[in-house]
Amino acid sequence: MQRVFNFSPGPSMLPLEVLRRAAAELENYNNTGMSVMEMSHRSKDYLKVYEEAEAKLCRVMGIPDTHKALFLQGGATLQFASIPMNLMGSHKSADYAVTGFFSNKAYVEGKKYGGARIALSTKDSDYTIIPLQSAYSVDTDAAYFHYCHNNTVFGTRWPYTPDTGKVPLVCDMSSSILSEPVDVSKFGIIYAGAQKNMGPAGLTVVIIRRDLTGNAMPLTPSVMDYAAQTQNDSMINTPATYGIYLLSLVLDWVEKQGGLAAMQKYNRRKADMLYSLIDDSNLYRASVATDSRSMMNVTFNLGNVELDKEFVTQAAKRGLVSLAGHRATGGIRASIYNAMPVEGIKTLCDFMKEFEFEYGK
Ligand SMILES: *Cc1c(COP(=O)(O)O)cnc(C)c1O
Repeated sequence: MQRVFNFSPGPSMLPLEVLRRAAAELENYNNTGMSVMEMSHRSKDYLKVYEEAEAKLCRVMGIPDTHKALFLQGGATLQFASIPMNLMGSHKSADYAVTGFFSNKAYVEGKKYGGARIALSTKDSDYTIIPLQSAYSVDTDAAYFHYCHNNTVFGTRWPYTPDTGKVPLVCDMSSSILSEPVDVSKFGIIYAGAQKNMGPAGLTVVIIRRDLTGNAMPLTPSVMDYAAQTQNDSMINTPATYGIYLLSLVLDWVEKQGGLAAMQKYNRRKADMLYSLIDDSNLYRASVATDSRSMMNVTFNLGNVELDKEFVTQAAKRGLVSLAGHRATGGIRASIYNAMPVEGIKTLCDFMKEFEFEYGK
């Protein structure tokens, strides 16, 4: 069986080069006589793996000394709870921008631990838009302002960084981290599950401004306490050791591609190929507003549920797999993270043209 072009929203494709290197190092890492998986997380050999992963992440993303990168577990979903538990402090409420599936989940979870206010919601437009800064206001007393940079399910992306004044900006970047440059200094917290653009599931990256740690609610579990995790370099307990190692390999690959500016250029090119085909077509319809389109999750539909299904089935026969939209939206979703090669996009575009020739009117 040949490798397929995997358009899965996550877990998703990893660069082949990374998989091959991991395979080559699987049984005997760096002459240690063991796999990274088998090493004590406190051993000298593993600590080197960990420190390199952290240093590379800081270098690639330009993380300043004011911020700390943590390698945690529990997915982005656990952060939906960790964030209010750590940041709510004496504040009455936190602001949430609800622009899709996961940002709504973050809001619902956030409400359990304190006041949560919907600062803006795009539910009325079926989550197909990202509003302008002028369309909402930020509560200046809010503990933080939470938003999701790239809405994985609906296929929208914030085209700008919200200006929240002194209110810390907290961002779920699960499906866009490492896909483009980001000015980390603007953020209180950036967090992401690794399984979309960074590595395997099981690892969660949290980048936190150090001065926001230390005010966790007393009942906060220590593994969720950012201050405790910062002081212990994410090793209150055994971290996701192998996932951290794979992240390190992915970061090597990103640096080899030219870093985040080069990734952005590459991702823009890939997304533009798909969007221009969709815009020129009579069969395919883009699902979201033009100025809010995601570079990572391209959503569209064929205006007919049966035809959507036929498209997904036929694509799979051509080695283009996992193109079905989320159960909440239907339609088609092509998730094209960093590791999706341009050949995958070309193959998909060729298939789409043939499909339109046969089924379009
Ligand atoms: C996938 C995803 C999540 C959920 O991540 P888990 O690691 O499964 O908890 C949250 N937010 C966004 C934006 C996602 O894409």
